Amino acid sequence: MAARSADAGSGGARGRGDAGMRAADLEILDNRYMWELVAPGDRLFISMIRDFVDREVMPIRRQLEESTRGDFSLVREVQQKLVRMGFQKAFLPAEYGGWNLTAALTYCLVLDEFGRGEPACVAALGGGAWAMRPAVFAGNRRVLDDFAHRFCGDELYVACFAMTEPSGGCNIENVDLHGRGIHTRARLEGDEWVLDGSKVWPTNSGISDIYCVVCNTDPSLGDEGIALIYVPVPIEGFSFGRFEDKAGFRASREGDFQFDGVRVPREYRAAGPGEDAELLHDNLIFARLFSAAWAVGIAQGAFDDALAFAREKVVAGRPLCQHSLAANLLADMAIDIQVGRDSYVNAAYMYDHPESYGSRVSPQMLSRSTLTKVFCSDMAVRVTNLAMELMGDAGGDASYHVEKLWRDNKIIQLWEGGVQLGKLDVARGYYRYEQFHPNSLYERMRGGGSG
Ligand SMILES: Cc1cc2nc3c(=O)[nH]c(=O)nc-3n(C[C@H](O)[C@H](O)[C@H](O)COP(=O)(O)OP(=O)(O)OC[C@H]3O[C@@H](n4cnc5c(N)ncnc54)[C@H](O)[C@@H]3O)c2cc1C
Repeated sequence: MAARSADAGSGGARGRGDAGMRAADLEILDNRYMWELVAPGDRLFISMIRDFVDREVMPIRRQLEESTRGDFSLVREVQQKLVRMGFQKAFLPAEYGGWNLTAALTYCLVLDEFGRGEPACVAALGGGAWAMRPAVFAGNRRVLDDFAHRFCGDELYVACFAMTEPSGGCNIENVDLHGRGIHTRARLEGDEWVLDGSKVWPTNSGISDIYCVVCNTDPSLGDEGIALIYVPVPIEGFSFGRFEDKAGFRASREGDFQFDGVRVPREYRAAGPGEDAELLHDNLIFARLFSAAWAVGIAQGAFDDALAFAREKVVAGRPLCQHSLAANLLADMAIDIQVGRDSYVNAAYMYDHPESYGSRVSPQMLSRSTLTKVFCSDMAVRVTNLAMELMGDAGGDASYHVEKLWRDNKIIQLWEGGVQLGKLDVARGYYRYEQFHPNSLYERMRGGGSG
């Protein structure tokens, strides 16, 4: 039966015997994105990643997840291969030895490719690029001089963007709170920042060499108090708690850690008052774009597997895919996936072209990136669910892959503010939505007035 073996279903319908069909399928694969929107060098990189996913990830995608119950060594092996291919340095500036692939669209297309394979195995490297973006965009020479070369070597060097705290992630992401939900404090003593506070859930917790810590210098300053400060480890005052155990995305590592009087040079702050808040918002907008793409890749993987299954499985005397009910389900999945992909490609292109579409941290861009993240992660829940339904028992069977993709995507739907905060951010693009909009009637009633 299709798709049970490790490599069946890899790369969608590739590798079947019918030469005519194979050519057509490849053409469809190659027309997934609008290549004209991507710079030629970036195209090469994306193609390299697609081949890597087909060759190195698809055949062992189930084992990759299973290895996370042990020592993660298989995940590390794949990551080490990616480092040697240049993935780790790709997103850093050329003057530090990187490839300067800073376009959000390129990053998204790469994660789309990983999504259909093993989305989480790339988190250690992708999360690193995300954590270093504020220093790159701020042009922070001290941070880049001290650490960029480590990302450009042949060894895995891991970074973490540490934002979420025990009191919740949304209170930090919520732009209406202007940083007041950030409890990790940074105070300047002489030429050093001193950090106190704790974080939960950041990707690459406990395995990182450097942390970009979202903290606050003074909550009464609003956005001006938000600071992004780089902390290399090991360092005195930094302690790690434990790794999270979660439904999906098991090949990435999240956990909790604490800062007790951790000291770093003052130049390790990404930029400065006001600018750090913009860098934070920019990173969150960027993250919603790439999360959308990851979810689309996951949906694509589920569709590819379901289609391979439906071609081979015979019910009532003919292949399952020749039943109109099955064709209907497959069409619904294909529509959802392509609309999702179009929506993130569109939003990422706008983000990459502020000269035409305005600031990257505008309410419109926040809305646009969140819209695609909410749509794509919801969409991938629907698609993975339909794929499981189409496959019957096999859909929930762990020796196939669809149930894993379903679990992985559920995690994407939950992170970055979840769907609820996400919808508030979508509304912000259309009118001035304020969570704390004054309501005079309510205030009068609270004050004991007659209303
Ligand atoms: C696999 C994984 C990887 C992660 N990686 C990182 C990382 O790299 N770095 C990092 O800093 N964090 C990371 N996170 C944390 C993630 O970003 C947070 O989970 C996310 O911000 C949501 O926060 P929360 O889960 O604490 O929910 P909470 O903030 O506690 O919110 C709880 C619920 O309330 C809703 N809600 C919150 N505010 C509002 C509101 N104003 N109005 C209406 N509803 C609201 C939310 O949508 C949610 O449903 C990761 C999480 C996971 C699962």
